Amino acid sequence: MERIAFIGLGNMGGPMAANLVRAGFDVTGFDLAPAALADLVRVGGTAAASAAEAASGVEVAITMLPAGQHVRSVLTGPDGVLARVAPGALLIDCSTIDVETARAMAAAAAEQGCDMLDAPVSGGSAGAAGGTLTFMVGGTAPAFARAQGVLGAMGKTVVLAGPAGAGQAAKLCNNLILGITMLGVSEAFALADKLGLPAQALFDISSKSSGQCWSLTSYCPVPGPVPASPANRDYQAGFAAALMLKDLTLAVEAAAAAGAAGVLGRPAQQAYARLCAMGLGGKDFSVAAQTLLAGPIDG
Ligand code: NAD
Repeated sequence: MERIAFIGLGNMGGPMAANLVRAGFDVTGFDLAPAALADLVRVGGTAAASAAEAASGVEVAITMLPAGQHVRSVLTGPDGVLARVAPGALLIDCSTIDVETARAMAAAAAEQGCDMLDAPVSGGSAGAAGGTLTFMVGGTAPAFARAQGVLGAMGKTVVLAGPAGAGQAAKLCNNLILGITMLGVSEAFALADKLGLPAQALFDISSKSSGQCWSLTSYCPVPGPVPASPANRDYQAGFAAALMLKDLTLAVEAAAAAGAAGVLGRPAQQAYARLCAMGLGGKDFSVAAQTLLAGPIDG
């Protein structure tokens, strides 16, 4: 049974680690929050007293942490994971972080003779619990092949995007599209409302017209047309506006660093920042529609 260290057992990491246990892996976890560790033990995993202890001698170490600085310190900080894993181990970072840190971590792993993949996910906490996540992977083809069993136990779709950092690049570009299209769809519903066009009529027409997109047809931000969307449950659960703000901030920073042209990324980032400043950061990001229907959010 392959031994796996899992560092970061939060909303995403907790259920992902539980799925690895269910798939028969020997999982030792670490998290700063004792309750998260207790959850892992409850499903059959082992709790470690530190990231270094969890990683001691393992063949595979997975991280699912808030941001780049956490990944950097857990992997390469004093008594970091990289110094503790078995020779030639495979490291997989599933956190959403900046491309530059992802590439730096892959280089640090290579220096130690280890493989490293950046493998951010899409699918949210429901996908993590159900084992249906999509993994967007950056790294070498042999490391990707080596990770299939582990990633397959936590997700349904596993895609190699390219070399180190490409998984994070794919995640940031995808969420740039998502954050912008959600604001566009929300703005259209606010305009329809002012023009006296019922939301259902706009949905029926645009979902079959050139305005069609996932933010409209699968995740409609107003209640009614798509019964499963968060709009029908007061924007609870789903993908938090604060996380969308995080991802758009990473996207606009990456665009600035790479010299990529942009029109809508920064204004979209600012719109989600305002939603968070209004105390809505914990709500699903489609709460933008409710806010726009109530009035401008650019004040
Ligand atoms: P979370 O805050 O619920 O979990 C992060 C966990 O990391 C916490 O339990 C925290 O205690 C732990 N942690 C922080 N620093 C640590 C350290 N030094 N050592 C050990 N543990 C440490 O966040 P989450 O929602 O699970 O998200 C994790 C990552 O996944 C983020 O990068 C996020 O952007 C990404 N993501 C989240 C979602 C989502 O819907 N929640 C979807 C896709 C991607």
